[in-house]
Amino acid sequence: MKRIILAGGGHGHINILKELINNPTVDYEIHLITDFNKQYYSGMLPGFVEGIYKEEEISFDVKNLCEKAGVNYINEKIIKIDSDEKSVSTILMDDYIEIKEKPSSYKEKWYLENKSKINTYEFDFISMNLGSYSKKYFPIDSRNSRYVKPICEIVDFKNLLDTKEHFIDKLTFKEMIIIGSGASAIELAISINIKYPNINVKIISSSKELACRFNKGSKGKLREILKAEDISFQLNEDLIDVDRKNKRIKTDKGSYSYDYLIISSGIEACDIEYKGYETTEDNYILVDDKLCANNFSVCMGDMICLKSNPNIPKVGVFALRQAPILFKNLINMLNNKEPQYKYTPQKKYLQILNCGSQKAIINYGNLSIYGRLAWMLKDHIDKKYMNV
Ligand SMILES: Cc1cc2nc3c(=O)[nH]c(=O)nc-3n(C[C@H](O)[C@H](O)[C@H](O)COP(=O)(O)OP(=O)(O)OC[C@H]3O[C@@H](n4cnc5c(N)ncnc54)[C@H](O)[C@@H]3O)c2cc1C
Repeated sequence: MKRIILAGGGHGHINILKELINNPTVDYEIHLITDFNKQYYSGMLPGFVEGIYKEEEISFDVKNLCEKAGVNYINEKIIKIDSDEKSVSTILMDDYIEIKEKPSSYKEKWYLENKSKINTYEFDFISMNLGSYSKKYFPIDSRNSRYVKPICEIVDFKNLLDTKEHFIDKLTFKEMIIIGSGASAIELAISINIKYPNINVKIISSSKELACRFNKGSKGKLREILKAEDISFQLNEDLIDVDRKNKRIKTDKGSYSYDYLIISSGIEACDIEYKGYETTEDNYILVDDKLCANNFSVCMGDMICLKSNPNIPKVGVFALRQAPILFKNLINMLNNKEPQYKYTPQKKYLQILNCGSQKAIINYGNLSIYGRLAWMLKDHIDKKYMNV
């Protein structure tokens, strides 16, 4: 029986699990390997932070979906995918936690010295949907600071903010700095500002404008909202150091103290060795328009670089559009057919930015609509997506 490995639990693989639940197959042996048992839907994260959604409403239980779909669930960290050997190498999450924060050279040495801790899974076909991570510019202290990706970090951070330890005295004001001014940084700033009235939120970003991928109308509205919420934003300012001991950051324009710090600027590819695959210098897998890396590997989402269109943004709306194409082309491959379905990146795409208090901005081309109806539409789309 042919063996398929689904590497990662991103949007595409959630879609495959949904398909398999509706149309079970016994023709293949399918394994899903992921480093986390939940898959958070980032679009609903600000609503969760604000307290509108519960954790189970914004996450898929991947293990449970695998069981329903007849897929073998493996909770391990992938460290290597080898196209010559057709194999995936992994380590247990407990072992990975030990070396998580260490530099790549240390990890490589660790892998060599701990060969017995490395598991190898062979495959006939592989589908990869491994996402991306925040760029770790500086070491930070997880007791008061987080990088925004993986998203479980922010879920954990919110749980931490909710603990009594952080809120013994609700009248004491705390300073939070959010680095970054993209849609996700702004959404987080607003939701934290609303949920925790005694936290002063300040946005600092090297970018020259807020939400640079949004149209003029939406950008103007966002400025208004941030002002109304009393969230300050300093643009064109580069983070150059984090002094985690003294809880201060240094930028090219000044130095600021913080009680909490969130870094939401810049992502990087997974720390995985792709042997025999064509990758970019920064480790994104190169794929053709059919999302194929070769004739037994399909890949999608943040982890890919589309050869025909290398600069498409790493956002979920592209991943969601790729998901059904990945599935159909994988089926083609399994049936010894040429993958047929082509992915053409959307030129215009709908983005709905959560502005807090159940209001949102719809941004589509030059169209910008703000208000409660926009939020209701977002809530409807998001809940529909989460419905298995
Ligand atoms: C705060 C925030 C808000 C956002 N809001 C939006 C939004 O509103 N709209 C939008 O379009 N985009 C948004 N994005 C971007 C969006 O989250 C990503 O583009 C999208 O999740 C990418 O999907 P993916 O399927 O490629 O991978 P992911 O959703 O990142 O999934 C990757 C999967 O692979 C697993 N994995 C990773 N590495 C390994 C490994 N080594 N071994 C095993 N498993 C591994 C992970 O656990 C995960 O299951 C937001 C991002 C953030 C951080």
